Amino acid sequence: MSRRDELRSGLRRVHDQVEAACASFGRDPAEVTVVAVTKYFPASDIRLLHELGVRDVAENKHQEGAAKREECAGLDLTWHFVGQMQSNKAAAVARWADVVHSVDRPRLVAPLARGAGERNEPLAVLLQVSLDPPEQRGDRGGVSPEAAPALADDVAAHAELRLRGVMGVAPRDGDPTAAFERLRAVAVSVRETHPHATWISAGMSGDLQAAIAQGATHVRVGTAILGNRPGR
Ligand SMILES: *Cc1c(COP(=O)(O)O)cnc(C)c1O
Repeated sequence: MSRRDELRSGLRRVHDQVEAACASFGRDPAEVTVVAVTKYFPASDIRLLHELGVRDVAENKHQEGAAKREECAGLDLTWHFVGQMQSNKAAAVARWADVVHSVDRPRLVAPLARGAGERNEPLAVLLQVSLDPPEQRGDRGGVSPEAAPALADDVAAHAELRLRGVMGVAPRDGDPTAAFERLRAVAVSVRETHPHATWISAGMSGDLQAAIAQGATHVRVGTAILGNRPGR
């Protein structure tokens, strides 16, 4: 099978899953954006995905993302950053990414706004909320649910940033539904003060149905579309 055919069937499978989940949970598939997580895969795959209709791609490392965006110049793609962010890279990420899913502490906000100030339009920002039990927090990043509203206010105070919602990664073991319910509760409380923060980025290859059941507007899917990641 050619790489193009592999990607086409991966995409079809994922869209079928999204549609089935939407049908079961009374959601409109048009409300759910599939973001293809292309980390570790070459820019040639991104070009093929674009030919197959993909318009949202995600990377988790600053250098890799910036380089691929350069290689894919001219393609109408929205670039998402989903990796853990270092504060000394935040301004640089804001120069190439269109959406940052992983803002999880106040220290990132000013440098992100500084980098975003060099763009033509505000940078879309999601707060990454930790869905891990308190004793495991920090492992994969994420603001605690309790601290999320204050961080939301901080982001919203910067004109260069546009607070769009929240993001979460389900715990490695445990019930994704319970985790995504917690994320949804945080989303609701953030939206009370910030009505435009309507996005919920939740769900990956293994748990996208549970995420859609809990209101996900963006699912971040790597393996189910592109296969196992190379070189790890
Ligand atoms: C890699 C990654 C994904 C995609 O994971 P798959 O299991 O390959 O679908 C989603 N979200 C984040 C934050 C990631 O780093």
